[in-house]
Amino acid sequence: MGFIVQKYGGTSVGTIERIKNVARRVARTRSEGHGVVVVLSAMAGETDRLINLAHAVSESPSAREYDVVVSTGEQVTIGLLSIALEDMGLRAKSLLGHQLRIVTDSRFGSARIERIDTARIKDELSKGFILVVAGFQGVDKEGNITTLGRGGSDTTAVALAAALGADLCEIYTDVEGVYTTDPGICADARKLKKISYDEMLEMASLGAKVLQTRSVEFAKKYAVPVMVKSSFTDAEGTLVCKEDADMEKVMVSGVTYNKNEAKISVLRVPDRPGVAAKLFRPLTEAGINVDMIVQNISHDAHTDLTFTVARGDYKKAMALVKGTAKDIAAGDVAGDTNIAKVSIVGAGMRSHAGVASMMFDTFAREGINIQMISTTEIKISCVIDVKYTELAVRVLHDAFALGKEEVAEER
Ligand code: ADP
Ligand code: ASP
Ligand code: MG
Repeated sequence: MGFIVQKYGGTSVGTIERIKNVARRVARTRSEGHGVVVVLSAMAGETDRLINLAHAVSESPSAREYDVVVSTGEQVTIGLLSIALEDMGLRAKSLLGHQLRIVTDSRFGSARIERIDTARIKDELSKGFILVVAGFQGVDKEGNITTLGRGGSDTTAVALAAALGADLCEIYTDVEGVYTTDPGICADARKLKKISYDEMLEMASLGAKVLQTRSVEFAKKYAVPVMVKSSFTDAEGTLVCKEDADMEKVMVSGVTYNKNEAKISVLRVPDRPGVAAKLFRPLTEAGINVDMIVQNISHDAHTDLTFTVARGDYKKAMALVKGTAKDIAAGDVAGDTNIAKVSIVGAGMRSHAGVASMMFDTFAREGINIQMISTTEIKISCVIDVKYTELAVRVLHDAFALGKEEVAEER
């Protein structure tokens, strides 16, 4: 017997039949004697539809009203699931972010959870209700509705599990766990039994959208065990937990890709102190995150500087950088949105040499040109032409023998 937070993603609640399927699963968990809080996403495709509606009204909708619109998908699913549970004779109650007081900062569209008021939820639980909570949304200190960024229901679930001291947070999705790479593009992808918080954090932040990055940060910080599994089968899932001894045996545990970035190059930047600071300050002030940065060797006191930003920030970033380039007497500014970042991740890289050269050799064999490189202790990322993304993922997956039996046995 324990206390479990279960989160069901968009595909898992995508139709009425699937919502009824979720109701049966929740009822089963309950009948096994567990306490349960359910977190739901909007129906698959609904959040995209809502975003398009907001943009159909205005090219740049205000951030506050945008969140009012895009947060509504979850209100529908939590109501529907509660009705389905009631129909089965269970006592259920849906709750929105503001009713529960999931308090966030005021960064509309990518708000961070600051605190969850657990008094209400504990009170309702003690009355015997199954609580069905809207994922992805919160409320700021002024009472405005906020959203947590795409995929944010994962974060709602893990944050709730942390706040309530749950024994487990289950993330139900449309695949059976965390794989060595996206099973949607690599048939050979292999499900992992376990993955450490740190590796999962890298995988998520490098594009494996199976968990939102921030949800893994929460899980790590509060040591919440997270089980990723399918809502359609009873297959064993993947446990995201603290690193343990067997995990280190594998050199590379996953391959990820991210097609959501764009590259900006500033040519002939005067090579003197303070110039990089000048270029990047306006981006920081505009809330634009810069990811990879490469600066070339200086020639005749000038250098080229290239960096990547999220695709959604590209236009704004280009305009800002063009302005600064003029001020600092740099040359042209060139942009490229046809790029992808492909990465390999593995805690075992710390103790294995030659991982980078194997990655580069693999790309060379396939004629894939590397435009940028960045590394940390447990990952290597390369920016390449977007048209080679799937190929790059598959050949790396193969080169590091991620689909092979021998590796599976080590896990
Ligand atoms: P949900 O709507 O349930 O939150 P998401 O679409 O956000 O589901 O995340 C699940 C998807 O993540 C899978 O369908 C899969 O295509 C993708 N994915 C990418 N990388 C991985 C990976 N390494 N392991 C599992 N799934 C992955
Ligand atoms: N419905 C939101 C989205 O599509 C949140 C989520 O699914 O986690 O991004
Ligand atoms: Mg998701």
